[in-house]
Amino acid sequence: MNAPLPVEVLKQHLIDPEICIRCNTCEETCPVDAITHDSNNYVVDPEICNGCMACVPPCPTGSIDNWRLVVRAEAYSVQDQLGWEELPQEKPLPVDAAAAGEGGQPMPAPQAESGLAQAAAVTAATPGAAVPPWSAAHPYVNLYTHKTPITATVVGNYRVTGADTESDIHHIVLDFGEQPFPVLEGQSIGILPPGVDAQGRPHHARQYSLASPRDGERAGYNNLSLTVKRVTQDHGGAAAHGVCSNYLCDLAKNDPVQVIGPFGHTFLMPNHPQANLIMICTGTGSAPMRAMTERSRRLIGTADIGKLMLFFGARTERELPYFGPLMKLPRDFIDINLALSREPGQPKRYVQDLIRERAAHVRGLLADRNTCIYVCGLKGMEVGVLDALRDVVVQSGEDWSILHDALRREGRLHFETY
Ligand code: FAD
Repeated sequence: MNAPLPVEVLKQHLIDPEICIRCNTCEETCPVDAITHDSNNYVVDPEICNGCMACVPPCPTGSIDNWRLVVRAEAYSVQDQLGWEELPQEKPLPVDAAAAGEGGQPMPAPQAESGLAQAAAVTAATPGAAVPPWSAAHPYVNLYTHKTPITATVVGNYRVTGADTESDIHHIVLDFGEQPFPVLEGQSIGILPPGVDAQGRPHHARQYSLASPRDGERAGYNNLSLTVKRVTQDHGGAAAHGVCSNYLCDLAKNDPVQVIGPFGHTFLMPNHPQANLIMICTGTGSAPMRAMTERSRRLIGTADIGKLMLFFGARTERELPYFGPLMKLPRDFIDINLALSREPGQPKRYVQDLIRERAAHVRGLLADRNTCIYVCGLKGMEVGVLDALRDVVVQSGEDWSILHDALRREGRLHFETY
C-alpha cells in the first residue's frame, strides 16, 4: 500500500497591512525581489521569498515581521494579500501537516533565524547599518497606529526656501498638548492625509523625518517639526499633485492633523561624549540633520560634544532649507560644506565632490570609532556618497570594504533616502 504523501508546511512571510506605512524600504531591500505592492498593500510572494530576513531589521514599523505556518499548497497568494485590510488569523494545520511542522522544519525554513545570519543577510542587501550606534537612546516605535492615530495641532507652518524658487519647502510645527509622543532625532512620523484614493480607500500614511530634537521644536514643549517639500512633479518631472505634501504645506495654524508612529530604530544619534557626526544631505534630507545639530547645540556647555561636519546639497542657496539659521551657527561648532549645483556663476558641485575636497578631514573623522555617518535625501545620492567615502579611504591606503563592514556592524553608517 502506498504511504500518504507528506504534507509540506511553509512558514509564510507576511506583512501586516494595518501597521505597514508603505515606505517601500522592504521592497528596496529584498535581495530576491520577493516583495511587491499595489496602491493598497505591500506583499510577499511565497513562490520567491527564501526567508533570508534581510528586509526585517530595516523596516521602521515591524509590520514586516509576521509569519504564518500554512500548508504550502494553500499558501496565501500575492493576489490574496493585495486585497487584505488586516492579517488573517492563524489557521490550525491538518494533523499530519502539524506533525511535520512540529518536527521542527517547516519548508522553507527562514535562512536567518540566528542574529549572525540575519546581520549577514542585511549587510549583503543594504549599504547602511541595521543597528543603531551603541550609545543611542532607546526609541519608542508604533505608539500610534492607523487604528489608533493621535491628533496633533499645527502651531506653525512657513516656507523655508526662497519664494521665487521652484522648491517649495515648509517648516511645519505640530503640538501634541498633553498626549505623550516621545521621539528621538533621526526618527520619523506618519501623517494620515484626509480623504480617499482613486479606489475609495482612505489614503495611506506618508512618512516624514523629524526636524526637531527630542525635547521639542521649542525646548521643553511637547511639539516637533517637519521639513516638507510640496510635490508638484513626479520623479520623472511630469506634473503631479502629491496628496500628503500638499495637504501639509497648505495647513493653517490650529488645524488638526492625524499622526501615527513614531518610527525608526536605527537612524539614531550616538549619546556618548566626544561622538562625532558626519551629516550628508540634500533638500528635505536636512530634517534629521537639523534635529541632530540642534540636539548637539542645546548640549553645548553641559556635555562633551564631538565634532559636527555637514555636507548639504541643493541647486542654489535660495533652495536650501534653513539657509539663514544654518549660516548663523558658530564655525567652531559645526563645519558646514554647501554643494550648490545650479548657483549662477559657480561651477556645479555635489555633496560627493565636497567629500573628496575635504578628504583629509573626512579621513581623520572616519579613523575615529566615535564617528557616525548619516546620509539622507534623494535615493540617487547613495551610490555617489559611498563612492566618495570609498575614494577618501582608498587614497590613504586603507581597505574600504573592511571599514565599510565595520561601519555597518557598529551602527556607524546610516542611510535614509526616498
Ligand atoms: P504622492 O501623492 O504619494 O505621489 C504623487 C506623485 O509624486 C507620485 O507619482 C509619486 O511617485 C511622486 N513622488 C512621491 N514622492 C516624491 C518626492 N519626494 N519627490 C518627487 N516625486 C515624488 N518627504 C519630505 O518632504 N520630507 C521628509 O522629511 C520626508 N521624510 C521621509 C522619510 C522616509 C523614511 C520616507 C520613506 C519618506 C520621506 N519623505 C519625506 C517622502 C514622503 O513620505 C512622501 O513620499 C512625499 O511627501 C510625497 O508624498 P505625497 O503624498 O505628496 O505624494
